[in-house]
Amino acid sequence: MSALSELYQEIALCQQCELAKYRTKVVPGEGAEEADIMFIGEAPGWHEDQQGRPFVGPAGQYLDQLLASINLNRKQVYIANVIKCRPLGNRDPLPSEMLNCRKWLERQIGLIHPKMIVTLGRYSMAMFFPNKSISKIHGSAQKRDNVIYYAMYHPAAALHQQSLRRAIEEDMLKIPSLLAQAESVVETKQQPQQLTMFEV
Ligand code: SF4
Repeated sequence: MSALSELYQEIALCQQCELAKYRTKVVPGEGAEEADIMFIGEAPGWHEDQQGRPFVGPAGQYLDQLLASINLNRKQVYIANVIKCRPLGNRDPLPSEMLNCRKWLERQIGLIHPKMIVTLGRYSMAMFFPNKSISKIHGSAQKRDNVIYYAMYHPAAALHQQSLRRAIEEDMLKIPSLLAQAESVVETKQQPQQLTMFEV
């Protein structure tokens, strides 16, 4: 069994916050264990809670389309959420829930070692780009400790708003060049504290 599968078993037993009482299934995440790109959304919705898989409802189908636009599918990337259990009524995650659940995401990132972390929506953005506004920073990236952090709107929000839809589709198309650029900037390993903000 892989370390990631063992981690899933640990997450499935987690009772650290109240959301455990109401979940049908925990939704740890899925995808390639050695993925270059990790997409991080907010929290499971109804479909995800039923299936125990991330992004399987309408927003997930849209995410699949977005991935296809850069010639990827979900088996080639890793997809997870900040919160592993569904908040009742699809309400927004509470700060305390995000804090409790954060350790699981951190361990996933530690095992996968992605070259690029793409935040989907403002809750996952807040973990990696504190005190920023998604309307201002979507489509821009930071490089920290040799990982590219890239903020995008959440597919669920973009599904229903034409302006956001255009933005998320354009932002997705920038990912391949960002990743290629990241690989060429090897010297950042020697400057792990340096933040590099760049637009593509
Ligand atoms: S949401 Fe996270 S911290 Fe809360 S019970 Fe589920 S796995 Fe545990």
